[in-house]
Amino acid sequence: MKNAFHIMLIPTLGCPAQCRYCWSSEKGSPIMDIEIINEVVAWLKNFRNDRVTFTFHGGEPLLAGADFYRNALPLLSEGLRHLNPEFAMQSNLWLLTPELAQILAEYHVPIGTSIDGPKEINDLQRGDGYFEKTMRGYEIAKAHGVNVRFICTFTAQSVKSREEIFNFFKKNGFVMKLHPALPSLRNKNPEQWALSPQEYGELLVYLLDKSLEYLYEIDIMNINDLFRCVFTRRGNVCTFADCMGNTFAVGPDGSIYPCYRFVGMPDYVMGNVHDRPTMEDLARSGAWKLMHQYKEYVDTACGGCKHVRYCRGGCPYNAIAPYDGKINGVDPHCTAYRRIFDEITDRLNKEMFESPDMEMTILSKPKKGAKPKIMSLMQKIVSR
Ligand code: SF4
Ligand code: SF4
Repeated sequence: MKNAFHIMLIPTLGCPAQCRYCWSSEKGSPIMDIEIINEVVAWLKNFRNDRVTFTFHGGEPLLAGADFYRNALPLLSEGLRHLNPEFAMQSNLWLLTPELAQILAEYHVPIGTSIDGPKEINDLQRGDGYFEKTMRGYEIAKAHGVNVRFICTFTAQSVKSREEIFNFFKKNGFVMKLHPALPSLRNKNPEQWALSPQEYGELLVYLLDKSLEYLYEIDIMNINDLFRCVFTRRGNVCTFADCMGNTFAVGPDGSIYPCYRFVGMPDYVMGNVHDRPTMEDLARSGAWKLMHQYKEYVDTACGGCKHVRYCRGGCPYNAIAPYDGKINGVDPHCTAYRRIFDEITDRLNKEMFESPDMEMTILSKPKKGAKPKIMSLMQKIVSR
């Protein structure tokens, strides 16, 4: 089983937090019944014969409660044993109890949570009391051996404090993954918090420098992934790969969407788990066709770009959803992607030109006192 696919399970779009820039939660959203999980198992039994990863996402997935996970995890892992299921979760951890942590630990469910920097910066954009509630959950997760990683959302406001935020992650020894705040389609003023593509590009270059300066003191996942994309010339995260057909999301009522970002948007429903659709059935849906039109659009619109092979036009949601389902352009973050891909490519070319013996460059330790070059990232990645 060489290939893999990804199913995002969205037990609810509800969330107890009220982040100012949120684009994905919905008040009064229903909670998934365990019967839907039974249907997911029945649907996937003969859907694909590839490894599957399930990510519980939201809204806030812990709103589904301990009983839901106590039942859902064995149903999925035993019912789909032939697909070697793995699990992950994205949660703010507010509702994590020792009981829930124990269940998640038993099924090796790593959690991605969100902290936007030190308390003052975080709570300014995520709401008073957020920081403490998440940190309380983090301590419970840690005590039960659940692996937690932190996602930091940079907004137009917080990017001004990028140094303070970087130092916060470094001081605490947290692995950093960053997200740019997106224009919220559920907000009257969608652009207020959104990070502009120019600012996002500058931020990525800043973090590239920082991850080289503090090579063995911090891991910035996006920088490692971007470097791998350029070096291997293959997209290795969903944003930089053709995600359609390999990722699906299931909403609280069993509706199937192309990705969690579309959940709750009726125009993007591709089918329902109750009907056990095959890949061919899903391919007949409007959402599937639209995603494939986007792929074709990228082949033309990005045809002249030297990064197209490992960028693939970025995220289709970013490109399509804000424009009422019309394809008017590629992912608006193109400017940022180009900026960081150019930067990595230029530095790599320069280093290779200066040192033609690539193997030696990758494997040799940097000279004492010498500033780490970009190939040092490769050295760090391969030495793991
Ligand atoms: S739509 Fe965007 S976020 Fe969703 S899987 Fe595709 S690239 Fe990833
Ligand atoms: S950097 Fe921009 S132009 Fe190049 S492939 Fe990505 S989205 Fe297309």
